[in-house]
Amino acid sequence: MDVKVSKKLGLKDRYAAMTRGLGWDTTYQPMDKVFPYDKFEGIKIHDWDKWEDPFRMTMDAYWKYQAEKERKLYAIIDAFNQNNGHLGITDARYINCIKLFLCGISPLEYTASRGFTHVGRQFRGVGPRVACLMQALDEVRHSQTQIHSMSNYNKYYNGMHNWHHMRDRVWYLSVPKSFFEDAFSAGPFEFMIAIGFSFEYVLTNLLFVPFVSGAAYNGDMGAMTFGFSAQSDEARHMTLGLECIKFMLEQDPANVPIVQKWIDKWTWRGYRVLSLVSMMMDYMLPKRVMSWKEAWEIYFEENGGSLFKDLERYGIRLPKYTAQMEIDKEHLSHQTWATFYQYAAACNFHAWIPSDEEMDWLSEKYPNTFDKYYRPRLEYWRDEEAKGNRFYNKTLPQLCQVCQTPMIYTEPGDPTQTCYRESDFKGDKYHFCSDGCKDIFDDEPEKYVQAWLPVQQIYQGNCFTPEADPTAADFDPLIEVLKFYGMNIGRDNFDFKGSEDEKNFEAWRNLSTKN
Ligand code: FE
Ligand code: ZN
Repeated sequence: MDVKVSKKLGLKDRYAAMTRGLGWDTTYQPMDKVFPYDKFEGIKIHDWDKWEDPFRMTMDAYWKYQAEKERKLYAIIDAFNQNNGHLGITDARYINCIKLFLCGISPLEYTASRGFTHVGRQFRGVGPRVACLMQALDEVRHSQTQIHSMSNYNKYYNGMHNWHHMRDRVWYLSVPKSFFEDAFSAGPFEFMIAIGFSFEYVLTNLLFVPFVSGAAYNGDMGAMTFGFSAQSDEARHMTLGLECIKFMLEQDPANVPIVQKWIDKWTWRGYRVLSLVSMMMDYMLPKRVMSWKEAWEIYFEENGGSLFKDLERYGIRLPKYTAQMEIDKEHLSHQTWATFYQYAAACNFHAWIPSDEEMDWLSEKYPNTFDKYYRPRLEYWRDEEAKGNRFYNKTLPQLCQVCQTPMIYTEPGDPTQTCYRESDFKGDKYHFCSDGCKDIFDDEPEKYVQAWLPVQQIYQGNCFTPEADPTAADFDPLIEVLKFYGMNIGRDNFDFKGSEDEKNFEAWRNLSTKN
């Protein structure tokens, strides 16, 4: 097929010729056989041409634009690294945010790229195919630039050396990993609602604003710069997510309940992943940007609220578990950090008890809950630590079959009771952290019974290295699991206090400011 691109074409026609003009209907094979996945979910599309490309960008313009951003980004990263920029951060606790991001989030960017590549192939409409192609390229760029901008820290600090190995093994990383794998093992339209809409549009600010502003507030120019470099891509992704949902809703009224179910599901799944961000904001950033609760109110309740008001005309309502999230915003970060404090032995980053000043900040930000429920526990642990009993929990927690979070959250109305739900399927019992996760399971049990749950896998003996010998007299299962995780035991894990990171940072900073 010949496409003649004349210089005289206007921008819009030129774009059409170089994107949609390249598509065709197959004749040797029926279209349904070539695109086998875009119908089974029940989404009805009558006219693919109704897809409006939010950004009319050709590949040619895309490469030029991205190359310019890369040049700027790498110049700044080089300057930051060459000037020992890492010694200018607020304090070495900040680096634990980097570890969390590198291990928990950057691999998701790569998975997003794989997801969009796969999904782009499955749509028979050319418009969404082109949009997915560009997003797939953006996402692979995000994972690369994140890894590059953080790799300098890996030369000096612990816990980052094995992130790709850890991603498939370490207990808490199964939460973000399972989120994305759930999305890209779904159908193409569900993937678009999961990632394009629920994550990129509704929740992304809650991930990137705290992280990028957190980097800026704490003197991390490398991470801050990749954040800005990704921002213009994010604007494109958000528009794609919104375009996609509007397209589905406008094509057929029968699509509305399917889309609503996915919004309910994916907002809840994404929210569970964001629990990691909540503790980063309230506990891990030495210089805080705002509290999790404040961020939730601005980015979800206000911005998300007006978005869902807009979608009302299609018959779409707020995500189902919004009321619970509103109650939880007072508790989420405290319950999550308490878990990482207890399980810091099995983690590739450090945890600690906040200082008195930091606890006062938390009291001020959480007047209804912090002093009543959470301060006493932290102070108790601090006293125990002073007596030489730093508490490490060695009991493996029950995990949620869907989000894979340990059962660490409480009943929406009673913060003293652990929340858990269960379902029976084919003679077995499955456990969930919440009504949200139970509903997700009950809708598709065949999918979630296959989950690789880190705790269950440990108990089944699947998380040891080939050298481990359970019959040996001195066999320590926890140590053996940490070896399987690829952890440097005693360097990557345990409390921040007394860690190599703490000592080195202090020594190097002193060297750089004094004789
Ligand atoms: Fe991204
Ligand atoms: Zn769950």
